[in-house]
Amino acid sequence: MMDAKVPVERQIGQTVLNLTVEGHLIDFKRELEIIVANIYKQNCGIVCEKYQRWSWITQTPHNKNRSLIHIALMDRKTPVDIIWSILHEFGHVLQDVAELPLAKKDPLLELAREKDAWDKAETEVKKYPKLALLAEQFYSYRDKQLTSYNKGS
Ligand SMILES: [Zn+2]
Repeated sequence: MMDAKVPVERQIGQTVLNLTVEGHLIDFKRELEIIVANIYKQNCGIVCEKYQRWSWITQTPHNKNRSLIHIALMDRKTPVDIIWSILHEFGHVLQDVAELPLAKKDPLLELAREKDAWDKAETEVKKYPKLALLAEQFYSYRDKQLTSYNKGS
């Protein structure tokens, strides 16, 4: 978990360092710094999960004010997929309704939530020229995720 006593700048530094080193994303260090700073502005944390295959967000009505994004690093086809995952989970953060147990029980509602989070991620991708150049990769990753949504987010 994120240590509330560690200054935000240092948390961002640690996260970006993790991502750039573990995920070989050094070319996108500047973009990741901005993305992670924006995540913190939403009062949300982010951690890397070296031994997980599926990213997720811990966001419930009880911890909505301090959500935590978990980014899976295992078995990535290309490192930049990690960025798409981050932006997707960030999309969930921007959804102002916390993940409800009800949503989990309704596949259509859950799929709508996922699509909306991807739409928000797409908007983010377009804000970064270096990422926008890779939009085709983003769309292909998004579409793959949208067809396999029982496994994770
Ligand atoms: Zn999702």
